[in-house]
Amino acid sequence: MTRDQAGQEFLHTPGPTQIPDKVRQAMSRQSLDLVDSRLRDLTGSCFADMKRIFKTDGEVFVYSANGHGAWEAALANLFAPGDVVLLPETGVFSNAWAAQANALGLEARLIPGDWRRAADPARLEETLRADTKGEIKGVLLVQTDTATSITCDVPAMRRAMDAAGHPALLVVDTVASLAAHPYDMGAWGVNVTIGASQKALMGPPGMAILAVDERALRHAKQSGIARNYWDWHARLGGEFYMRFCGTPPEQHLFALRAALDLIFEETLEGVLARHRRLAGAVHRAVEAWSEGGAVSFNALEPGERAVSVTTVRLGEGHDPDQLRSFLREELGVSLAGGLGDLGGKAFRIGHMGSVNEPMILGCLATIETAMLQLGIPHVSGLRAAAEHIAETRGKQVLGPARAA
Ligand SMILES: *Cc1c(COP(=O)(O)O)cnc(C)c1O
Repeated sequence: MTRDQAGQEFLHTPGPTQIPDKVRQAMSRQSLDLVDSRLRDLTGSCFADMKRIFKTDGEVFVYSANGHGAWEAALANLFAPGDVVLLPETGVFSNAWAAQANALGLEARLIPGDWRRAADPARLEETLRADTKGEIKGVLLVQTDTATSITCDVPAMRRAMDAAGHPALLVVDTVASLAAHPYDMGAWGVNVTIGASQKALMGPPGMAILAVDERALRHAKQSGIARNYWDWHARLGGEFYMRFCGTPPEQHLFALRAALDLIFEETLEGVLARHRRLAGAVHRAVEAWSEGGAVSFNALEPGERAVSVTTVRLGEGHDPDQLRSFLREELGVSLAGGLGDLGGKAFRIGHMGSVNEPMILGCLATIETAMLQLGIPHVSGLRAAAEHIAETRGKQVLGPARAA
């Protein structure tokens, strides 16, 4: 049997994510003259609202690039060839960022992690204390690694740096957590934050968004590193179009404006609470599935499980990629596969951005349907997921809260 063409397709990958109708429609608009004041006003409003999401009074920079471009923008402004950067290993994304740093001539040092627990602040403190020669110029930290679906405690990592009295800059990748998990760049003392359009920001792929504090801007000015397109100071000076080092990605900006309007209509707090609520439903379902013996969480510590994505391991004899193909081709639900060492061993459910209760419950029910068809043992988690939503929506639950 193949999939019926009727109804909707469910995109539950942890990037790209569903683009709301209002955001897609906003892009269907004619380009504006570069000197049109509407373009300046729109850009200014997007930058100002992104500061509210990053929670910073620093500067915002936008590039026509993906998350990898955002990484490179930060490295190209801050670090010179030969500089040492330290990365607590969180999963595929810390390791790919380290490889990028090495390719740019930096020396990336990993603090090894096991991909099942969040990065450890005590080990960061210890490593920084041991750096008596002051070689380490930056700490590069991924808040939520989309491969492992584990979220690090960024303030605790900052406190570890402070406790060690180490002056390294803190650069945090929030590509998979911004506008999903709480974040406060100013209060947490993060120097540079990295984001991208296509995850919880609900936009089309292809826009890198960075926030840079005053200390990082000063550092970039003095660094003397050869760069041009990425250069923050060139983008701050001169003509309006220099904000983009050329023509702005206009339709992406129209889309960003529409996505920001959706976020602030719901309120940022409301958006974060919705992510917590829907993630709770997914986690309750996976807990129930696990009782069947074939399925388990990758993230061992419940408090470290991400609100944006859940990595589900499948035991020996069960093929997550077969499950995913079946779901995509026969049932119209797209999940992501395991990455890196989790390749062929896990699948990932994205639950960030433009998602609501029926989408999440529909996704979970469809996964259960596929597990039934493919003979993957599990206990149904639908009742637990529905209960979690009913309880956390703050409405009175009528009748018995739990099935007898
Ligand atoms: C998706 C992702 C990236 C990479 O983003 P691309 O747009 O695919 O380059 C980087 N970091 C994290 C944490 C991600 O989830």
